[in-house]
Amino acid sequence: MTLPISFEFFPPKTPEGATKLRAVRQQLAAAQPEFCSVTYGAGGSTQAGTFAVVGEMLAEGMEAACHFSCIGATRDGVRAQLAELRDMGVTRLVALRGDLPSGGYGAGGQFQYASDLIEFIRAETGDHFRIHVACYPEMHPQAKSPQADLQALAAKVRAGADGAITQMFFNADAYFHFVDEVRALGLQVPIVPGIMPITNSAGLLRFADNCGAEVPRWMRLRLQSLGDDAAAIKDFGAEVMTRLCERLMAGGVPALHFYTLNQAAPALVLCQRLNLTS
Ligand code: FAD
Repeated sequence: MTLPISFEFFPPKTPEGATKLRAVRQQLAAAQPEFCSVTYGAGGSTQAGTFAVVGEMLAEGMEAACHFSCIGATRDGVRAQLAELRDMGVTRLVALRGDLPSGGYGAGGQFQYASDLIEFIRAETGDHFRIHVACYPEMHPQAKSPQADLQALAAKVRAGADGAITQMFFNADAYFHFVDEVRALGLQVPIVPGIMPITNSAGLLRFADNCGAEVPRWMRLRLQSLGDDAAAIKDFGAEVMTRLCERLMAGGVPALHFYTLNQAAPALVLCQRLNLTS
């Protein structure tokens, strides 16, 4: 099957992590992703690491998307970074606000929302970049209401976003309902589900709570009951996520974006089960 897929990585903190990520990329290349993306730490804290991984991927002949967040950033700083990315040959961005700092950093930044960043990127670089943005089928945790969050997505599209990737979710109905609402606003951009393979129950539950994604009660209970049995969690996770992806694919999703957490096997297993590898 030829549904486009993409893989997301984070920039490793150590040389060992960088070596491991190269191997992970090689393994995942077998699934022929449309592109791979690299996250950007809060406030640009990983900028050098993010750009380095993006550069390596481009040198390997991979289509690379650079995540880019604007909280705390200045216009001059962003202008310089966009020039650097252009010079590197980057043509795709995932443009984000980024998470608000807990310790006051971010003050003095010249961008408030991701839509401000997208407007600036378009004004500075025209159509050079294909711009993906984040969206939230279960609402961004800081949004005033689901409607306000939809308007935030509409503002990003009006500012020039080409497509959106969702926060992880485990409820297909939440995604389909969200897409209906997006279309009802007259927005036609692709809404690509962000898929989080399940490999670790404590980490997953913590991350889901932080980002406002609902883990259904039956899944939470089942994961808790599996305790530290890593193999059982992996099997259960693969089964649940395969079923979710099958439902999404049957409903006509335009692509799937996998949050790999820099591991090849969980995403590859899903792609194989879904017949997405060639
Ligand atoms: P925005 O679209 O600016 O929205 C932020 C909040 O402001 C929302 O509640 C929205 O409803 C509200 N809002 C927007 N515009 C307005 C307005 N005009 N008036 C009032 N309210 C408004 N984080 C990272 O730090 N690095 C990454 O690499 C990264 N990658 C991600 C990739 C994906 C696919 C996703 C889904 C998330 C990613 N994140 C990343 C997390 C993201 O930075 C956070 O969710 C962040 O809190 C919001 O970013 P945003 O771009 O969605 O912000």
